[in-house]
This record gives sequence, structure tokens and C-alpha cells, in this order.
Amino acid sequence: MPPARFRVAIVGAGPSGLFAAQFLTGRDDMAVDIFDRLPTPYGLLRYGVAPDHASIKSVATALARVLEAPAVRFLGMVTFGRDVTRDELLAGYDAVIYAVGASEDLRMRVPGEDAAGSRSARAFVAWYSGHPDAEPQSLAGVRQAAAVGVGNVAVDVARLLVKEPLALDATDMPADVLAEFRRAALTDVWVIGRRGPQHASFTTPELRELCSTPGVRVSVQPESFDWIEDDLLDRRTRTNLTVLREASEREVPDPRVRLHFLFWRRPVELRGDPVSGMVLERTVVGPDGRVAGTGETERLPVQLVLRAIGYRAVELPGVPFDHESGVIPSAQGRVLRDGLVAPREYVVGWIKRGPVGVIGTNKSDAKETVQAVMADLAELGPVPERSDVVGALAARGRAPSTFEDWRRIELAEANRGASHERERMKIEAWHELLDLVQRERPGGPLPN
Ligand code: NAP
Repeated sequence: MPPARFRVAIVGAGPSGLFAAQFLTGRDDMAVDIFDRLPTPYGLLRYGVAPDHASIKSVATALARVLEAPAVRFLGMVTFGRDVTRDELLAGYDAVIYAVGASEDLRMRVPGEDAAGSRSARAFVAWYSGHPDAEPQSLAGVRQAAAVGVGNVAVDVARLLVKEPLALDATDMPADVLAEFRRAALTDVWVIGRRGPQHASFTTPELRELCSTPGVRVSVQPESFDWIEDDLLDRRTRTNLTVLREASEREVPDPRVRLHFLFWRRPVELRGDPVSGMVLERTVVGPDGRVAGTGETERLPVQLVLRAIGYRAVELPGVPFDHESGVIPSAQGRVLRDGLVAPREYVVGWIKRGPVGVIGTNKSDAKETVQAVMADLAELGPVPERSDVVGALAARGRAPSTFEDWRRIELAEANRGASHERERMKIEAWHELLDLVQRERPGGPLPN
């Protein structure tokens, strides 16, 4: 195959980066290098989509084809800003696309938030998804739990908590995570919205799935529906309200777990360390349209609080960042520096538009960015005398992990799954991942 005319670097091998690679390699004059700090591709598809949502995960099968394409290289274990800089990438590629997502979480900023038993849903999701950086979580002694926020992340964590653990057997969860869910003995889970059900951002299929979990009795305080004019709502919201009303009217004899939706409440304090309770304040929408407390409080007895109130992106060294909106400023995917287009730099996914949208949203987003890349490359042409970034990394003893390394991890996960009569079981320990990456590596061990 003749050498590609253009070389594009993508930073981040999650769905948005891989969709961008897919659109780029629709042309045969394009080669794409996809960098990731982990030895495993797929980002939130692997470490964010709930393990019991296998159908969404099957997107990975389609995206695997992108990584298999001869014009694409997966370069794992390369951290942007540490192993490779913005300037190095701009000297080695004709275009650089940042696709790093939003890796931090928002905080409630209430007293007690850092007590044991209070965690971000992000950390909880990372744990049950087998992320190698995740801290082990314990459900020992947790009878009552709360998810703060009424978006899809809150729905995901609530569903995992109320689900019969046997129903998780078919997932790819690591063995110790599954064991922890089996040990758990939850009786009550609250999902807490600081506004009304008509303002919740969860989507209907996700809500319906949660509300129809076998053995779960759902309650919603009837006054939550007061003053809502259904006719003025959009279809999704109207259907959500119907799902909530029907679920709360459904009798579930001898429920295994009770699931309570509490609206118009916001957390104001977490009591105890470890957490033994959460103080909620009733809320209203003030004349300025913002949520305001009424001063009326109540206490929920909970031993686990998961804040699912949204994600936050992190600034990349040397790359413009809008701290207010938490994104890299851009126009049609082109990075803006001080309001002007930064040549050859692009952005896609949550770092471009904020942490909103489902996996599929990234496809149209990537299309827009790639159109900008293609148009600009046609005008600017290739960078003269591109440097060899991967060669320079190897010379510094930081040879990236490869797609073949990832294949070895995948095979080991399939073998581990087979020995437990499961399709796959995730390997979450860094030392095991590194062992699989280093094995058969001609140059010997890879430095950490
Ligand atoms: P989200 O949809 O933005 O929901 C965040 C929730 O937190 C909102 O209910 C918000 O209330 C609330 N909140 C924010 N700050 C708060 C505070 N200080 N105190 C109390 N509540 C607060 O975000 P997300 O659930 O993290 O989801 C992120 C994106 O991923 C979404 O687009 C989601 O659809 C997607 N996702 C999809 C799936 C799926 O398709 N299955 C699964 C997971 C995630 P306000 O509305 O009042 O601000």
C-alpha cells in the first residue's frame, strides 16, 4: 500500500475518537494513529456503559473494525501531556483531534461529602466496569442507598443496586465486583431530583427498565405530579411521567427492594463518617428560574450516597480550555484559541460539546469534525517533514501498547469468562493488564 498522504492523530480511543477514525479512513489517502492512556480501547463504551447493557456494548464490534483497518494504529499507554505533547503531535501529524471525554465529576459542595460511603457515581461505575484505576468499593453494611441526580447515570447505578445479583451473572463484570453485589443486602434505594419529574434528564427506555426491575416496588410521592400540565410537555417527558405514575401504582407483593423517587429535594448535608444519613432540603424554583431551598429539611437513613450529578472535563496541557463551560472552545469541530481557529487542531465528543448525549450522538458529532478536518487538509496540504512521534516515543523507552496487545487482553478475558461459563470477564488489575501487554514483547518490559 502506498504511504498515506495525510496522517491524523486522535487523542482518546473512546467512541467519539473511534467514530472520527471511521469517517477519516473512509478515504484511502488517510492514516490515523489513535493514542490512549490505557492499553484498552473503547473508553466509556468499555468503562461507562452499564455491564447489563450488552446491546449498546455491541457498538464495540463495529468499532473494532475501525481499529482493524490497515490505515489505523492503536497506540495505548501513551498519556497526552506526559509521554507526548501537543507540539510533538502537531509536528508529527497533519491534524490532531482531541477526543478525551470528561473524566472528572461534579461535586455537591455540601458538608460531609468526603465521608466514607459518599462517592461519585463515576467512581462507582468505574469500579463495576472493571476500570484498572478504580478503587475497590464495598457494599458491606449498606441497607439503604441514594443516587443524587435524575439523569441516566443515576438510573444506571440505581438499577445495578436494585437488580437481583443473579441477573448480573451474564455480564462481563470482574469476579470480585460480582461477588460484592451478591453479598449486598439492600432494602431501599432513593433517586433524588432537585427539581420535578418533568425536569428529569433520564430517557424513557432507561427509566422504564429501572421501574420494571423484577422484585422492585417503586414509589413516587403523588404530590410530585401536582401542577404539571402534561399538554405543555414534550413527548419524552410526558412518557416519563406516565412510566413513573404507572410504576408507583403497580403492586409488587413481597418486594425484594423498594425504589423511591424523591423530587423537589436537594442534599444539604451528609451525616456521619462513614455516612449514616443524608439531610435533604425541600426545593422550589425561584422567580429567577433557579432552584431554591425552602428551609424545610428531612433526613434519609442511608449508608451509601452516589452523586450522579454530571461529569466534568479536564484541561489538556497546552490546549485551550473554557473553564466556565468545561470544554475545549471550538467551532464546527475546529479548536479556537482566543476566538481564532487554531490550525490543524480539532475536537470531538464530550470535550467538544460537554457531557451530554448517548454513544450514538458521537457519530454525527464526529462527522462534523471530520468534515472540517477534510476541508482544511484539502486547503493546507500535509505538514512538510513530519516527525516520527511513535519512533521518538520508542527511543525514549515508551513504546506504546498495540492493537495486538489489546487482542491478547481480549482473549484472556474470554478465557477467564469461559472458565466461569460467561462470555467474558473483565481483567481489572493493572499488573495483569501489563503482564498481558509485556508478554511476547520483543523489546522486553514496558516502563510504567
Ligand atoms: P445529566 O443527564 O446531566 O443529569 C445530571 C442530574 O444531576 C440532573 O438531574 C441534574 O439536575 C442533577 N444535578 C446537577 N447538579 C446537582 C446538584 N448540585 N445537586 C443535585 N442534583 C444535581 O448527567 P448524567 O446522568 O451524568 O449523564 C451524562 C450523559 O450521559 C447524559 O447525556 C446521559 O443521557 C448519558 N448517559 C446515557 C446512558 C444510556 O443511554 N443508557 C447511560 C448513562 C449516561 P438539574 O437538571 O436540575 O440540573
